[in-house]
Amino acid sequence: MKQVTYPRSSLDSEPYWEGCRSGELRYQHCTSCGSVVFHPRALCPYCLHDTLEWKASAGRGRVYSYSVQHVPLRPDAGAYAPRVLGIAEVDEGFHMFAEFLADDPEQVAIGDPLEVVFVDVADDLVLPKFRVGAK
Ligand SMILES: [Zn+2]
Repeated sequence: MKQVTYPRSSLDSEPYWEGCRSGELRYQHCTSCGSVVFHPRALCPYCLHDTLEWKASAGRGRVYSYSVQHVPLRPDAGAYAPRVLGIAEVDEGFHMFAEFLADDPEQVAIGDPLEVVFVDVADDLVLPKFRVGAK
């Protein structure tokens, strides 16, 4: 059976993962050029300065893009499909790939409101997911 691969923390991303473990969606802000930066990096991709600071998102956004996965990744994960995977447009000005939690995956639409939730998926790994239809 194919082994599930989980993301790994690095020196640059550890504050992000620590935020997930403590229920906080973190992103970076460049104090040199003012850009919002996501995913975690050592240098600002816009001005190349190492002046990135961490900020906490309110965890709200909108569906930017999505796809409904009908075939489970593993045969033993049948109850885990269909599921919605997509790109969240987060209010603070960044986009991120995530799973969207929806009561009916077929009713998800571009622009639907999202709210982050944090889900324990493995030992010491908490993933941010977004609930669709948040008020
Ligand atoms: Zn910058």
